[in-house]
Amino acid sequence: MRRFDYHQPHSLRDALKIMEEQTGEARYIAGGTDLIVRLKQGAMAVDALVSLRGIPELRGIAKNGEWRFGGMCLFREIERSASVERALPALFQAVKVLANPQLRNVATIGGNLCNAAPSADCAPPLLVLDARIALEGPGGVREVAIEDFFIGPGQTCKRPEEVMTGIRVPQPGGQTGSAFLKIGRVSQDIAVVNMAVLVEMEGGVCRRCRLAAGAVAPVPLRLRRTEKRIEGRRIDPDLLEAAAAEAAEEVRPISDVRATAEYRCTVAGVLVKRGLQQALETVGRSD
Ligand SMILES: Cc1cc2nc3c(=O)[nH]c(=O)nc-3n(C[C@H](O)[C@H](O)[C@H](O)COP(=O)(O)OP(=O)(O)OC[C@H]3O[C@@H](n4cnc5c(N)ncnc54)[C@H](O)[C@@H]3O)c2cc1C
Repeated sequence: MRRFDYHQPHSLRDALKIMEEQTGEARYIAGGTDLIVRLKQGAMAVDALVSLRGIPELRGIAKNGEWRFGGMCLFREIERSASVERALPALFQAVKVLANPQLRNVATIGGNLCNAAPSADCAPPLLVLDARIALEGPGGVREVAIEDFFIGPGQTCKRPEEVMTGIRVPQPGGQTGSAFLKIGRVSQDIAVVNMAVLVEMEGGVCRRCRLAAGAVAPVPLRLRRTEKRIEGRRIDPDLLEAAAAEAAEEVRPISDVRATAEYRCTVAGVLVKRGLQQALETVGRSD
């Protein structure tokens, strides 16, 4: 591994300044659970790392009409929040099955999104929840919809000098339910397919449906065609079957070491069906 400088600023301002001064290859580091693995594997090399761990304003979870997760919010904080469990079940469930407790003690929600793996477990729940990403750089602050954040495998619209400072999530309405499901080869593995589902119900009819899947395309994917099939209808066994078939058609997976494309299509259909059933069970539980 190439030798590199390690900076530990205690404010966002200092972090941005240090990053601006770098002349070689420099990266921000959060929990390091993706970055350090890549450095050790020689998949990348840096001249400097700028740690975000000592910056208090990037941490924590706040609820003030809507939710705000700091870019450096640890998975551990999320899985310990009974309010998140009640209000945002899809996100809570995604975090609960992510890796293992040791990793969740150091890894962050911002790192999961900035790493931009197509299988990132936090991406589908945040997609169905219409999350918005706050980015801050020397030029100022901007906000992007999570759907516009991912560009390709490992690629986002974030500029290298920008810090993801937070993630804004609207509080779902009263008759909303959501769920997250994941199939991996073994427990603690990254997803073969993951799926988040959100339904907003009115008089037994699904008024709004959001479906998002991971590891089935170059970026985490909204399943808009399948959503359209569900919206405006009662979710009965026939509709569940039709939605599963549509989802299996709509995803665009590749075959790799974890699974074949064909298997991923089948699994995506099954997860839509199960996810809808599970999301319906949580309708009305949020506050
Ligand atoms: C054993 C193991 C199991 C894993 N299991 C899973 C799993 O089940 N599901 C899953 O989704 N992932 C899994 N991962 C991947 C990883 O743990 C997560 O993606 C984690 O959320 C990364 O967060 P981090 O804080 O460690 O990021 P880091 O590794 O520190 O950073 C990742 C990238 O994001 C950038 N970055 C981080 N934070 C910011 C910020 N605030 N602003 C700007 N740039 C930033 C860094 O520069 C770097 O490029 C696993 C990893 C390991 C090693």
